[in-house]
Amino acid sequence: MTQKRILITGAAGFLGSHLCDRFIKEGYHVIGMDNLITGDMRNIEHLMPLKNFEFYHKDVSKFVHVPGELHYILHFASPASPIDYLKIPIQTLKVGSLGTHNCLGLALAKKARILVASTSEVYGDPLVHPQDEEYWGNVNPVGPRGVYDEAKRFQEAITMAYNRFHGLETRIVRIFNTYGPRMRLNDGRALPAFVGQALSGKDLTVFGDGSQTRSFCYVDDLVDGIYRLLLSDYEMPVNIGNPIEISIKDFAEEIIKLTGTTQKIVYEPLPTDDPKQRKPNIEKAKAILGWEPNVSRVEGLKITYEYFKSLPEYNIVHKEF
Ligand code: UDP
Repeated sequence: MTQKRILITGAAGFLGSHLCDRFIKEGYHVIGMDNLITGDMRNIEHLMPLKNFEFYHKDVSKFVHVPGELHYILHFASPASPIDYLKIPIQTLKVGSLGTHNCLGLALAKKARILVASTSEVYGDPLVHPQDEEYWGNVNPVGPRGVYDEAKRFQEAITMAYNRFHGLETRIVRIFNTYGPRMRLNDGRALPAFVGQALSGKDLTVFGDGSQTRSFCYVDDLVDGIYRLLLSDYEMPVNIGNPIEISIKDFAEEIIKLTGTTQKIVYEPLPTDDPKQRKPNIEKAKAILGWEPNVSRVEGLKITYEYFKSLPEYNIVHKEF
């Protein structure tokens, strides 16, 4: 049997690098691509010596060429934290639109199946709770998050157009909040922000009154859902996430307990369009993929905390206090 070849964009990022690990483990030849704007080579350093792994330092928003056969493409390149969208809004829009277009064109040329990484952000500040795949969302196109949300909504639209017009095999995963090792300590997201603050002796900054909710999925669970979706026959979007919901204030308190910090919570203004509640309905993933998350938050947070503590950044930051 010929070895399957898969292209993973955003390979040096948080999710991309875990996907590279999974597909290497499953015996695939993995071609990673990343422009390293938000990715970090440390996430894939361990894969570089492998003969089943290749890396292209390239921007997928520009023309991409990959020599040889390709059976699958996973398009995971994109900034994914609200702080990043504010810093690099144009790149965020381009990678979701032009980058997706390039990946779809490549998939068509190679007769490859493509899975694109969409997001719970397509639901915006949702008026339906929990969010199921049939809900069309409540998105502000001109707010600061619009650059991500609308790029991802366009991504879904163009992916379905390639599916319907060209008969391309496509899959769409809607990813809910995910955490685990290789998140960036300074990417502004709640978990790395709280852990970083606890580790460096600062108070934990909860935005708003902390009553907004999120549902956090451990990265290994998410990767398993994506793996199953890619190999399934299902072409419409599927939510993958953990349906256990928690308020951000309670989450900050969990981090205080986990880290044993003596710091307290301080309240800062809620960012514009910050969704008030978010929780996936995962009935589709259960029924179609036989998937549901297995890793508890206690277990997942412990592993993630150990990872953050092992980072040289943390050790440098920590020594200052
Ligand atoms: N958040 C917070 N303090 C921080 C960073 C984030 O209270 O230092 C809040 C943020 O306003 C949001 C929630 O935590 O309500 C989750 O934020 P994150 O950026 O992790 O994900 P997203 O908003 O994209 O779900």
